[in-house]
Amino acid sequence: LLKVDSILMQFGGLKALNNVDLSVKRGTIHGLIGPNGSGKSTMMNVLTGIYIPTAGNVLYAGESVVGKTSSDIAISGIARTFQNVQLFGEMTAIQNILVGLHHTFKSNIVDVALNLVRYRKEDQEAHARAMALLKFVGLEDLANEEARNLPYGKQRLLEIARALALDPQLLLLDEPAAGLTAPDIKELLRIIRKIRDSGITFILIEHHMDVVMSVCDTVSVLDFGQKIAEGKPAEVQADEKVIKAYLGT
Ligand code: ATP
Ligand code: MG
Repeated sequence: LLKVDSILMQFGGLKALNNVDLSVKRGTIHGLIGPNGSGKSTMMNVLTGIYIPTAGNVLYAGESVVGKTSSDIAISGIARTFQNVQLFGEMTAIQNILVGLHHTFKSNIVDVALNLVRYRKEDQEAHARAMALLKFVGLEDLANEEARNLPYGKQRLLEIARALALDPQLLLLDEPAAGLTAPDIKELLRIIRKIRDSGITFILIEHHMDVVMSVCDTVSVLDFGQKIAEGKPAEVQADEKVIKAYLGT
């Protein structure tokens, strides 16, 4: 589904990504790991059009996404969440999802979400879909809470639900388990598996190794912008280069 070919991403003299290849098969979960500053989030920003790579190509479903706008890439089926949760804090949970559904329903649903206009009939369909998404991540009882008032773990799930509103084929999650409690992580894993079972492909950036080990089919490891290992989670975890990179030696 995704083929990343020799990506170079340079910021001045810094090569945040240095000749990185990546290949993700449809229906699988690919982990992207590595020490802080190794280039993981930069890769996600290249895949979603936030950064235009200095060199190299990204093929999604056979088509290059390099040079496309973030919104065109999202519409073409790549959705994401952010390392730092980026919700509309003053809007309710369901309003956040309705914004994500805006493209699909082509109604003035954003104005509806912001209470600027009254519901029309076609907006009810969007509303039903938004409720279904909230239910999918177990937040249906919190639909009318302001996003900023939700516990952090729930905000993470809401962000995932909003990404799902785009009806993506590829979902990119940047450290979804960061800052979560153990029960929150359990719930997150349950939802990730549920999404995978629905046929969506993932790239998962994650520092929690137990999360990586329990859901990823394959893993790539970045260190100083270079890919130093790739394979099944257990192989990668036992790789000496990877252990050294994490120890910083
Ligand atoms: P973490 O685990 O801490 O989130 P990461 O692997 O996601 O780390 P990146 O955020 O991709 O790391 O950063 C890789 C390198 O690129 C870092 O040295 C960072 O400072 C640099 N970098 C990222 N974005 C920019 C930018 N817009 N301008 C300049 N340097 C950048
Ligand atoms: Mg990062």
